[in-house]
Amino acid sequence: MKITKDKVVGIHYTLTGDENKVLDTSSGGDPLSYLHGHGNIIPGLEAELEGKSVKDTFKVTVQPELAYGHHDKDLVFNVSRSNFADPESIQVGVQVRGQLAENEPPMLLSVVEVTEDEVVLDGNHPLAGQTLHFDVEVMELRDATAEEIAHGHAHGPHGHHHH
Ligand code: ZN
Repeated sequence: MKITKDKVVGIHYTLTGDENKVLDTSSGGDPLSYLHGHGNIIPGLEAELEGKSVKDTFKVTVQPELAYGHHDKDLVFNVSRSNFADPESIQVGVQVRGQLAENEPPMLLSVVEVTEDEVVLDGNHPLAGQTLHFDVEVMELRDATAEEIAHGHAHGPHGHHHH
């Protein structure tokens, strides 16, 4: 069996950045399970998995445009520290939930700078602008169920999932 659209694929992966720092890994836990061909993982990785089989291993370097996009300066903005219910908990590196504008859906914002009065927030994905290096092993492969295809994502071994 090969990876094609509507297969559920389980992979182990290690993601490193340009400075050789490990950013994320499935090692030591369950494989990452996803529904292939539905845009559930970044395009540059999904394209590379197409046609692979269980036990295949590969490395791929993904440029920002096929990963989390380029860093958008317009998504970086300042807010007053007094806007936060618990200003002491706001430190560089933490993520807060907020809105870019009143009618926009809430999103995760990274705190990138804290001054006495102001907090600088960044609405870009933390990996935006980065070239990503994946080391991948295909662990599992099966046909998706009709329900998974209808939902556009993989379900876990107990039918459990979140929407
Ligand atoms: Zn579902």
